[in-house]
Amino acid sequence: MTTINFSAGPGALPKSVLKQIQSELFSYKNSGASVMELSHRSSEIIELIEETVEGFKRLLELDDDWEVMLLQGGGTLQFSMVPLNLSREGDLIEYADTGYWSKKAINEAKLCKRKVSVVGFGSDIDTSLPVIDSACTSGSARYLHLCSNNTVEGTQFRDFPDIGTPLVLDVSSDMLSYRMNLDNVSCIYAHAQKNIGLSGLTVVAVRKKYILENNDIPQLLQYRSHIESKSNYHTPPVFSIYVANLMQKWLENEIGGVAAMEEINNQKAKLLYDSIDASNMFRCPVGVNYRSKMNIVFTTGHEETDDKFVAFCKERNIIGVAGHRSQKRLRASLYNAVTIEDVKALTEVISLFEKQAY
Ligand code: PMP
Repeated sequence: MTTINFSAGPGALPKSVLKQIQSELFSYKNSGASVMELSHRSSEIIELIEETVEGFKRLLELDDDWEVMLLQGGGTLQFSMVPLNLSREGDLIEYADTGYWSKKAINEAKLCKRKVSVVGFGSDIDTSLPVIDSACTSGSARYLHLCSNNTVEGTQFRDFPDIGTPLVLDVSSDMLSYRMNLDNVSCIYAHAQKNIGLSGLTVVAVRKKYILENNDIPQLLQYRSHIESKSNYHTPPVFSIYVANLMQKWLENEIGGVAAMEEINNQKAKLLYDSIDASNMFRCPVGVNYRSKMNIVFTTGHEETDDKFVAFCKERNIIGVAGHRSQKRLRASLYNAVTIEDVKALTEVISLFEKQAY
């Protein structure tokens, strides 16, 4: 039985990647040992880490101004590591409040004793995004933090503002789903469990010149520790790095790279939004210009009917369509590993459910 997984995270993985994991689980690269058992100081694992760092640099099209780190602690630890490394106590940093995850980032920055200013002109975070331009920013902040894709609300920034202040992006739910323009960006971070692999791994890319020398913070929290030790400062999450490496190969060799992935993701999102917009029963509350191509939020407007739809999907081997626990809605996450056929199957179930209801 195959199940189609629209979960918001951990998300679906490509079947070919799962098969590859299975085939070499007992012996990684003919070493006779599983990748889970090899020392992080062994040549195999040092090579794996280097290759994966290079893979991210290549896929994100980063030049030598950038450093890529493979860390742990999820998106959540970056909510504090970013302010700790890119600003100092009392510094002004700006945040756009775009919902559930950005609020958590704002709170952590305050706990780090930074002067946090929430910027952006008016928005209802459940249906749109704030306008961010130089009129609403001070011009003197260390950085401006944006959550590029709001996993819970189903909104997504596609064009990042050019306001002179360097941007920091939480790209946890859209990294490598399209070719992102990082011209005005000093740092991006993402956990791996949506588009790029498994939980346990967090990827941070930062332009070196923005890292401050903050020697008074714990060593493990300093980006410098991880850069200097080539992402091997302490025992890294080797298995998650291994899966991210396989995902990179899948993206490059089977999909054809990030631009090809973007094309597929555009088609997937269009298919699902079109079917929701054409429906008499379901609707998407998010304004057309703000809609995420990764997390598609929709509802019948009735909690009970939404719940029935979740059960209806489950009976047809479609899982992960219940909305975030903070919201009473439905949500389908169309991460990289979700195929066009998977989305078609969901649109068919949407029309079947509607037909049966009338
Ligand atoms: N940022 C975003 C955009 C997220 O969607 C999430 C979790 N889904 C997080 C941060 C938190 O990540 P983690 O659970 O890995 O700490």
